[in-house]
Amino acid sequence: MVRLQHNMPPKTRGQHGNEESSRNINYIRSKKLRCVMASKRKSKDDISVPSLTHRQYEDDVYFMSVALMFAKKSPDPSTKVGACIVNEGKIVGVGFNMMPNGCEEAFIKLWKRDDEDRLKTKYPYVCHAELNAIMNKTSVDVKGCTIYVTLFPCNECAKLIIQSGIRKVLYLSNKYADTEDNEASVELLNRAGVTHRPFTLKQEVRDLLDSINPFAE
Ligand SMILES: [Zn+2]
Repeated sequence: MVRLQHNMPPKTRGQHGNEESSRNINYIRSKKLRCVMASKRKSKDDISVPSLTHRQYEDDVYFMSVALMFAKKSPDPSTKVGACIVNEGKIVGVGFNMMPNGCEEAFIKLWKRDDEDRLKTKYPYVCHAELNAIMNKTSVDVKGCTIYVTLFPCNECAKLIIQSGIRKVLYLSNKYADTEDNEASVELLNRAGVTHRPFTLKQEVRDLLDSINPFAE
């Protein structure tokens, strides 16, 4: 299980030149908002615990960033997808789209999207990020969890999400929104009562990823 830190080190204005200042405005604003909220809440017994709403807001940014970083690991040259499953603020599974375990080398040339022969495309073979995240889970199950995905789940993954007991989906992109598969996904998730909503804090994710500079002198 991975517990993420909530302390997000902000960049200062002079740290990376002029262009980064505007990118960090939203983050700085949110930091200010957090301070205002915290000061309103201050008491003798509680001087540092952020409100649940704001913590959730911040967690969403972190967990979608984790999903994005795992997407980067995908060997798929055209569509890299990442997924991160979270249970009460803790990561219990991560995954990205890849060929089945032990088949990576055998299928290395089969990442094609188009071919008259479907067996020469990636589609019959690839394991999607959601499948891998669920199979990689570090907890007994993922019932009641939230899954952060960089792409809206296909209908096969929607079935997996439902059957695994995941109750909430946050997605970054929905570039296949007009396809029948996508319609089926929405239908499945709605009927099963799994909530799904687009992730809107994209700039905050950019700011967080930009602020990571562990090798800075
Ligand atoms: Zn899928």
